[in-house]
Amino acid sequence: MDIAIVGAGAAGLSAAYDLTRAGQRVVIYEAAGEVGGLAAGFKASHWDWTLEKFYHHWFASDRSILGLIDELGWRDRVLFPRPVTVIYHQGHFHPFDSMFTNMPLFLLRHFPIWDVARFGLAGAYLRFSPYWRPLEAETADAWTRRWFGARMYETIWRPMLVGKFGEEHVKTVNMAWLWARLHSRTTRLGTFVGGFQAFLNEFAAKVQAQGAQIRLNEPVTGVRSGADGALTVSTAGGGARYKAVISTASPALMARLAPDLPDAYSAQLRALKSMGAVALVVTLDRPLTPYYWHNLPKEAGFPFLSLVEHTNYMSPEHYGGDHIIYCGDYLDVDHEYFRLSKEELLERFLPSFTRFNPQFDRSWVRDTWLWKTPYAQPVPPVNHSRNIPDIRTPVKGLYFASMSQVYPWDRGTNYAVEIGRRTARMLMTDAV
Ligand SMILES: Cc1cc2nc3c(=O)[nH]c(=O)nc-3n(C[C@H](O)[C@H](O)[C@H](O)COP(=O)(O)OP(=O)(O)OC[C@H]3O[C@@H](n4cnc5c(N)ncnc54)[C@H](O)[C@@H]3O)c2cc1C
Repeated sequence: MDIAIVGAGAAGLSAAYDLTRAGQRVVIYEAAGEVGGLAAGFKASHWDWTLEKFYHHWFASDRSILGLIDELGWRDRVLFPRPVTVIYHQGHFHPFDSMFTNMPLFLLRHFPIWDVARFGLAGAYLRFSPYWRPLEAETADAWTRRWFGARMYETIWRPMLVGKFGEEHVKTVNMAWLWARLHSRTTRLGTFVGGFQAFLNEFAAKVQAQGAQIRLNEPVTGVRSGADGALTVSTAGGGARYKAVISTASPALMARLAPDLPDAYSAQLRALKSMGAVALVVTLDRPLTPYYWHNLPKEAGFPFLSLVEHTNYMSPEHYGGDHIIYCGDYLDVDHEYFRLSKEELLERFLPSFTRFNPQFDRSWVRDTWLWKTPYAQPVPPVNHSRNIPDIRTPVKGLYFASMSQVYPWDRGTNYAVEIGRRTARMLMTDAV
């Protein structure tokens, strides 16, 4: 075998797709029992569709993944409804997801006209300007305060930044990160018939049909370079030699897996900051709210960042009539939520459900699942473009492609496909 890939997430599968199409022999090592990585799903026995462990959707502007789906001929299985996103303001939820309709209406009702005009101008600049580089020299916190004004900053941007990155990182994240979100996101949100896992399973089957081997439940424990230029990939079952290796694991894991990387490159990997994520999935016997996505300010005392009612996006009929709620948060991995059990988190989270629907009663709950991951959201500091490790590592034949390198874009399966395919092209150009 010629090329090993560490990880069968969207990036690893996309790299394998192009490599095998070009006639390369590929083995994918995957630590988990299924393909899909962070976008993987699960399925209760009475559901027809899988559900992502962490809420997922595509934007209509996600060209790389939608382009891949076109190539595969599966576009007729992509659904793009327009669910409603709301923000919490003064005790009420307000639709707030379109620069041209509900955002101006909400703002005009709650803010002086001068603030609304500033919001429109600064928002339009971020939406339409292609120039993100000057923005990365400043924090999102400082930029939004200056250009949107103190009231908008306090009401909209600060709660959003604190919610996403916590007080610890709110003054770290650069403005290019926020530009990327506002520049490219759409109100229509997409998914695959059967859920993301259905897409990823079929994609994996296609990659296998092209000759790739996918070894599930086989975590890689090390990648070493030998005197003859070959790379040895170790697992609990032993070692195997390859002419090239692409790792799609987290930067911290990459630094541990590959001790032959020069100190400067390993230091770059270790310096990359990121946050983990926790998602409690609760199924109810009836709807909780009329909305899909609720952005929640931490100051208002909600115990999580977002409440996502998935079945206001995709019909409950795909889930045996269950109404599905995600309670999600991005947190540092030493946060207590990472230590609490599902039952303990449920005790913390459920009382807040009456703030979404005063009628809510615990007897509505049918089932619960808890998902946690330590590597969920890269945190890009000021001038981050100077800190990104090259995909081509200093070890010949060893490539690294992760969420932390898709900057200025925020992480997403779209960018995982893009970086996976870019890495495959790079490897074939290098003709290792
Ligand atoms: C809470 C949350 C919400 C998100 N929402 C969205 C969304 O709405 N839309 C969207 O498009 N994206 C979303 N994303 C991001 C998206 O899931 C990721 O960007 C994408 O899945 C990353 O793909 P990847 O292949 O780069 O990495 P991963 O999916 O992390 O894949 C890496 C793979 O490597 C495997 N691995 C790790 N270590 C080893 C080892 N030692 N040996 C072998 N295998 C190993 C892992 O098990 C994993 O399968 C979200 C992510 C989170 C956490």
